[in-house]
Amino acid sequence: MPTQNSRMDEKPWNPVTGCTKVSSGCLNCYAEKLATTTFQRWHNPRHLNGFRITLHSDLLDVPTHWKKPQRIFTCSMSDLFHPEVPESYLLRVFETMRKCLQHTFLILTKRSERLVEFSSKIDWPENIWMGVTVEEYRCRNRINDLRKTNARHKFISAEPLLTDLRVLDLSEIDWVFVGGESGPNARAMEESWVIGIRDQCEAQQVMFTFKQWGGRNRKKNGSLLQGRYYHEMPHVMRD
Ligand code: SF4
Repeated sequence: MPTQNSRMDEKPWNPVTGCTKVSSGCLNCYAEKLATTTFQRWHNPRHLNGFRITLHSDLLDVPTHWKKPQRIFTCSMSDLFHPEVPESYLLRVFETMRKCLQHTFLILTKRSERLVEFSSKIDWPENIWMGVTVEEYRCRNRINDLRKTNARHKFISAEPLLTDLRVLDLSEIDWVFVGGESGPNARAMEESWVIGIRDQCEAQQVMFTFKQWGGRNRKKNGSLLQGRYYHEMPHVMRD
């Protein structure tokens, strides 16, 4: 799921690992890189299959043992809605999240068609933030799909932003965050694309976070946009 820069400060919970590429944003998939290089080198037992879809059913109830409230990124090393994840397993993942109302769970997918299909089969609890990645114009249908779900909180990750997203309908969307790609093969992001999203968030009263410009030296490039920082985010995402 994440590119190097899309990782957030959440505790990861990975009852599923592995994935396959689905759209342009996957090209430099950070999860794949971690799974097939670093974790392999460390002989991490969770990644013995490399980046092939793997279900870790022994991890399904792990969040129930975390008593302190946490922000949890569900499947930071996969896409939970990958077609190889059985529906019965998806239901179990959601059952755990529903049981753990002390925590806030974030889920991000690029497989919005499956998300819609699955959405009607569950009663969405208050503690799940459901997001779709929209990294380029031709992926905008994912926003419509997200809107079709009954998720209580909805967000868009425009990261790594690869094209102008042009006109956006942000109705029912709570939060948008934007970031440029980072790392040695980072693809360029134009300032006008970011400004376009920021302005539409402001006009449609949607929270907007600008995470970073990215590039080869993401620390140096920072996250200043037209002289200011944009770190609006839901109160549950703040420390
Ligand atoms: S959907 Fe996410 S986890 Fe899967 S390959 Fe693409 S970026 Fe990686």
